[in-house]
Amino acid sequence: MWSTPYDIIIVGAGVAGAALAHALSTSKRLNEKPFRICLLERSLAEPDRIVGELLQPGGYGALQKLGLESCTDGIDAVPVRGYAVVLDGQPVHIPYPDAREGRSFHHGRFIQALRSKAKQAPGVEVIEATVSELIECPVTGRILGVRATRKAEGAVEKEPFFADLTIVADGCFSNFRSSVMGQAAIKPALKSHFVGLILEDIQLPIDKHGTVVLVKGHGPVLLYQIGTHETRILLDVKAPLPNDLKVSFNFFLVICRPIVIVLLQQFIIDEILPQLPSSVHLALHRALDKDRLRRMPNSFLPPAEQGGHHTKEGVFLLGDAWNMRHPLTGGGMMVAFNDVVILRDLLTGVRDLSNWKEMARVLHKWHWKRKALASTVNILSLALYDLFGADDEYLEVLRIGCFKYFERGGECINGPVSLLSGIVPDPILLFRHFFAVAFYSIWVMFTHPYPRTKRGSSKPVMVVPGYDDYPYLVLKSISVFWTACIVFGPLMWTELRW
Ligand SMILES: Cc1cc2nc3c(=O)[nH]c(=O)nc-3n(C[C@H](O)[C@H](O)[C@H](O)COP(=O)(O)OP(=O)(O)OC[C@H]3O[C@@H](n4cnc5c(N)ncnc54)[C@H](O)[C@@H]3O)c2cc1C
Repeated sequence: MWSTPYDIIIVGAGVAGAALAHALSTSKRLNEKPFRICLLERSLAEPDRIVGELLQPGGYGALQKLGLESCTDGIDAVPVRGYAVVLDGQPVHIPYPDAREGRSFHHGRFIQALRSKAKQAPGVEVIEATVSELIECPVTGRILGVRATRKAEGAVEKEPFFADLTIVADGCFSNFRSSVMGQAAIKPALKSHFVGLILEDIQLPIDKHGTVVLVKGHGPVLLYQIGTHETRILLDVKAPLPNDLKVSFNFFLVICRPIVIVLLQQFIIDEILPQLPSSVHLALHRALDKDRLRRMPNSFLPPAEQGGHHTKEGVFLLGDAWNMRHPLTGGGMMVAFNDVVILRDLLTGVRDLSNWKEMARVLHKWHWKRKALASTVNILSLALYDLFGADDEYLEVLRIGCFKYFERGGECINGPVSLLSGIVPDPILLFRHFFAVAFYSIWVMFTHPYPRTKRGSSKPVMVVPGYDDYPYLVLKSISVFWTACIVFGPLMWTELRW
């Protein structure tokens, strides 16, 4: 028998890691002994990233359950009261139900507030060090801790850190997925990129509301205020990138970075800007001249169950290292905080963290307890991304149908926004609304005017489909319905198969 200096090592003091360290150290354990936690973070400087800036009401609720809601105070955070979805210049107002609110902020300031809470928590030691490997017992294969290099002047030596349990929360570019998950490891699927800029002093179509602009031929554009004077704009660039950009990214990324930036700027000015609200144009031009264009991959990684035969003992993954969805719906932090709430309650009930049988049971429970919220958010983000970023004629029908569904108001906006904001985590309700949108889209196709170019005229006019159009529309409806099935079905399967 040997005793380890820590009960738990957490790799990464980001959204999930910092919140978990604080949550565990401030809750009462069944065996009365307070947790001794080592939180390893490669850089404790304020992060400057284009991620994690809008926290949905469901995520804010989880933050309150963790006693961390004060982390949004004093950082110039902005209340978020719902969404505006804009198509062809027309916004639809989608408020959160029951006057619920989320928060948006500068990511770095929020993370520093979370870290400061973790630093103040009893029993938590925060160390600035980069973890480079997991220490594995050569006999049992169990993970005993990690090796990390402290961020000190000239430090090169890898220092071992040992604990009963190691939790890896090192984010979307995790280096440890395959070592932890073994044969159960899944490669994240790249869906698109977000290119981000900050716009100064602009007026959004609806104040204190996240704005989603549906852009023809490209992915959606997101706008949300992150401070009194700053509004984040995220432009979705599909994967693979548009041809000219792709070439430049692949071949000249390192050598010709300025060319890449110019191409990307031109692409935004030519293709995206004309479809954005005019109140944004000037500020976007200014930001393109002044601000640094930043790009982040938007990946999908379904959650595979941990603690089974294929995964390593003594360690598990948390946060984006384990499960990712498209950031279109701003659900990542909400899922991470909700995971921390469930884990805190489960881990405080564990008598012996080194007993892997007990830990495996905890991981199984966690996996299924988080499903309602995590599956709803994961599936919705990707399904909505497919619809909003429609790149074929059937998805285009669904995109227009979805917008018109929102225009109906009432339950047609209440249901979807309750799902998106984590207020009602219910995959069945999501299924119902998704297929209601599919059927409504087909109805819209038969009954609403559409642009048609008449013989001898170059200008399209709006016409309602006539009986002669019906045979073609019936065939098209089958394809639209099938497209809806192949968008939703595989996503549902990724959540249910484990
Ligand atoms: C473009 C984009 C926009 C997004 N916008 C939103 C949004 O508006 N709202 C929302 O809810 N979600 C959003 N997300 C998702 C959200 O950012 C993530 O879900 C969330 O940050 C995940 O938290 P995490 O703790 O797993 O990872 P992170 O918050 O990334 O934290 C990982 C930490 O680990 C540290 N680390 C990494 N490697 C090591 C190592 N080897 N050793 C030590 N430390 C290490 C990193 O420095 C970092 O501090 C967005 C994602 C993307 C890609």
